[in-house]
Amino acid sequence: MIQGKMIYEGKAKQVFVTDDPTLAVIHYKDDATAFNGLKRGTVVGKGVVNNLVSNHLFKLLAGHGVESHFVEQLNDRDTLVHRVEIVPVEVIVRNIAAGSLSKRIGYPEGTKLRCTVLEYCYKDDDLGDPMINETHIAAMGLATPEEMATIAAMALKVNEVLTAYLMGLNLSLIDFKLEFGRFEGRILLADEISPDTCRFWDARTGEKLDKDRFRRDLGDVEEAYQEILNRLMGA
Ligand code: 5GP
Repeated sequence: MIQGKMIYEGKAKQVFVTDDPTLAVIHYKDDATAFNGLKRGTVVGKGVVNNLVSNHLFKLLAGHGVESHFVEQLNDRDTLVHRVEIVPVEVIVRNIAAGSLSKRIGYPEGTKLRCTVLEYCYKDDDLGDPMINETHIAAMGLATPEEMATIAAMALKVNEVLTAYLMGLNLSLIDFKLEFGRFEGRILLADEISPDTCRFWDARTGEKLDKDRFRRDLGDVEEAYQEILNRLMGA
């Protein structure tokens, strides 16, 4: 496999083509942004943690029948993936109120929700990723109702598998964001699952071990990312 030119540069990742049109390489950076790019910084080692954590969780999910774009980890920061066409809908799964949901409905952070909440956002930085519903998605042609049914079922399965797994590591999975892609006629889980895209709280102390430490200037950001990696790797 020969890595080619960069085709996408996001806030935390770069994507490169390869000599195989069905494969791409993701490179994870230490750059961190929040609030749609208004806050910027560097979290030393974040790219390595996100790459290793994400790949570990994708492998776990594959064992439970959830197919992702993951193909092979190349090194600490680079991973070979299937070159999917990203569905421009961010899927947010929530078990416990926090962040924007707490603000929107007035539930204090940490309030247990009676059932899992699924939210959809239109993936558009210029618009600030606005929340949309399934009729917007159909009306805008972002995905078909059949694709959304698959995506919703996969998102709930991811939640079920990860919640149980993380509880065994003394971590509460509060909420997280997923992205999906089209590949050879099917829907694959794509993007990443990491402390950048999930809220992980220590199940005993409630300590935040995720990107909220950066967003909210809570300190010990690097240590929190490392703690997640250590727990997942059994260190
Ligand atoms: P909230 O809507 O409360 O800000 O975020 C809900 C969950 O989705 C959190 O775990 C958060 O990390 C994740 N999330 C939502 N939107 C984004 C995004 O644009 N980038 C990242 N990295 N995570 C997001």
